[in-house]
Amino acid sequence: MSKFAGREHRKEGEPMATGGFLEKQTVEKLAELLRLEDFSEVYAEADRVRRENVGDRVQIRAILEFSNHCRRQCRYCGLNRNNTGLERYRIQPAQMVETARQAWEAGYRTIVLQSGEDGYYTAQMLGEVVKEIKKTGMAVTLSCGELPVEDYAYLRACGADRYLLKHETADTQLYSSLHPCGTLENRVSCLREIKRLGYETGSGFMIGLPGQTEETIARDLLLLQELNCDMAGIGPFVPHPDTPLRDHPHGSTELTKRAVALARLLLPKANLPATTSLGVLDQGEKNDIFSCGANVIMRKVTPSSYKKLYEIYPAALGETDICSERKELEAQIRALGKIPY
Ligand code: SAH
Repeated sequence: MSKFAGREHRKEGEPMATGGFLEKQTVEKLAELLRLEDFSEVYAEADRVRRENVGDRVQIRAILEFSNHCRRQCRYCGLNRNNTGLERYRIQPAQMVETARQAWEAGYRTIVLQSGEDGYYTAQMLGEVVKEIKKTGMAVTLSCGELPVEDYAYLRACGADRYLLKHETADTQLYSSLHPCGTLENRVSCLREIKRLGYETGSGFMIGLPGQTEETIARDLLLLQELNCDMAGIGPFVPHPDTPLRDHPHGSTELTKRAVALARLLLPKANLPATTSLGVLDQGEKNDIFSCGANVIMRKVTPSSYKKLYEIYPAALGETDICSERKELEAQIRALGKIPY
């Protein structure tokens, strides 16, 4: 059977379910594809599946990083609570709503509210923020980590549309070694609850974690599919100097793009962002991420003074100017032959 076998059984005009490369969706098959010497045919297929299923629009999302306080100790993350050298901040609800309004005026139609796991914000507080922002008509995505199920339910009832909670790695042992405070089982059970509550659900994982192999990444991809994710963020690990993983090399941009391409084949209709960490490493490479299957990008609208303190990983950040940065990004997307949305 040819690797394009899926195509021959398809009716005219009907989108292919997973792409002909993946008639056998097994760990071995995916790992083998990730290891190909020449991946260009898979990229081309991912690009075609992306165009057929989500079109040529690149969705632009605003992200407001509203608190860098975190109770957890994730060993890769600069916000982990053991990093005592970091100045911590909290943006108050009124300023969160005001920033969202500015993003709306600049043309954004989705805002992602992200934070460390910060118990200061009760579900009631966040619920009020969501309700206020929803008055603009914007879609609201929350990304505040693991919460009690009642809180996910309450926030959904307040109007939150989407929730992002990356599973980080689908390898149970690797997950435990990186997360002294949590388990993969709990992370995945949160994701299932989020999905059950009717959120558009986003998971994702990092590329380049210690000990990760192509098989690990294959399992990550299959977990995205099993969870039936509506969104999936796949990004390279970037070492942060004030974390235990400071000396571990960053993840490969090529492998990240390959994983995104395979995610597109496994989840043809999903929203797949070009993650910010990929942008940090991937400057001026020949195949841009929007030709590898991705269709979403996020821009920080966090006020400048706070943005510099939300340092999950090191990145060069300029001053925040919500309007001009959006215009600049729209022009960059057009230059790639895509439609900013
Ligand atoms: N507290 C929230 C938000 C986490 S930050 C939560 O738990 O979901 C968003 C994402 O950044 C994480 O899910 C992780 O995948 C990514 N991230 C964290 N540290 C990173 C690093 N050093 N390099 C690359 N990505 C990182």
